[in-house]
Amino acid sequence: MAKVKKQSPAAVSLKRIKDEMEDVDYAKDSIVGDTYGNDCFVYVRSTTTPAENDTQEPSMKNFWIARVLQVRAKDASHVYALVAWMYWPDELPKPKKPSADQVNKAGGKRTYHGAYELVASNYLEVVDVLSFAGKADVQQWDEDEDGDQIRSQLYWRQTFSRETHALSPIREHCICKGHYNPDVPMYICDNAECKIWLHKQCLIDHTLTKEFEKINLASGSTSNSKGRSTKTKPYAGVLSGKPEERAPTKDLLSKM
Ligand SMILES: [Zn+2]
Ligand SMILES: [Zn+2]
Repeated sequence: MAKVKKQSPAAVSLKRIKDEMEDVDYAKDSIVGDTYGNDCFVYVRSTTTPAENDTQEPSMKNFWIARVLQVRAKDASHVYALVAWMYWPDELPKPKKPSADQVNKAGGKRTYHGAYELVASNYLEVVDVLSFAGKADVQQWDEDEDGDQIRSQLYWRQTFSRETHALSPIREHCICKGHYNPDVPMYICDNAECKIWLHKQCLIDHTLTKEFEKINLASGSTSNSKGRSTKTKPYAGVLSGKPEERAPTKDLLSKM
């Protein structure tokens, strides 16, 4: 299931493109220059992309997505691009050390990866622009700058290293130090000293813990004759934080 290697049918060797190709003059080559400028994102046909596939969801996931780093041409009919592959989370290879937030043991997708999420990679390849199926609108999501917006179009916030299989760190939330899946609502703790975003399951554990603490404070700790506290142990739940299937988040978040 997890694709370890992306190999476009149009891939050519990096050496060849350096030796034989010239930088495309974008002013002269309007087709390539206007359509696929450096740094744009593109849909790329893979060996398994159906011929009639379009770039609308959900069939967009039949395409690969890449970021164009440079376009070079030998002549008008031989135009190649150096690209950095973007991964759909389902394509991520599993981490070298198992991680608690993997969706399943065989793959690298994490529970916080959203439906519109892509992961940037350092996997570079040269592909024929004929394998491109159009531009993709992919936004970078800076969680610290942009906040916890609803994500209903393609975005990336994380990078994947092909060598180490490591994903770059992203913003931590909640008492579990987990991450935000923009498809799954999180809840803010109303407690004045908290005011943090919590996963639903973590919120339940957190609230129960707080309530038990309150009850204990109200009733007061009693000590037995030996001076040992007989105070009952606060609720200690397991913080599993399993996200639900996609749920409507807009209404919930806008009320907070
Ligand atoms: Zn949590
Ligand atoms: Zn709290």
